[in-house]
Amino acid sequence: MADKPPHLKIVKGHTQKAACPLCQQPAEALYRPFCSRRCAQLDLGKWLTGGYAIPAHEAMEDSDVETLLAAHGSQQSTQVDDDS
Ligand SMILES: [Zn+2]
Repeated sequence: MADKPPHLKIVKGHTQKAACPLCQQPAEALYRPFCSRRCAQLDLGKWLTGGYAIPAHEAMEDSDVETLLAAHGSQQSTQVDDDS
């Protein structure tokens, strides 16, 4: 009973600071999930050149989604039916 279920260990490990997918160094919050602006731009370059397949949305967290939705919603609310 003292032992935690295995899946809890997996989740805990997943929430730890992620490594940069390009160079495996600890990710920087500012450039998440990358360690630096350089790696972020390198990854973008891969995207633009078609080096990547469609990725999972692991990079975007719920808080980020909510921020985007909030920004989008506030923009819409100021422009609803303005052409009457
Ligand atoms: Zn990196």
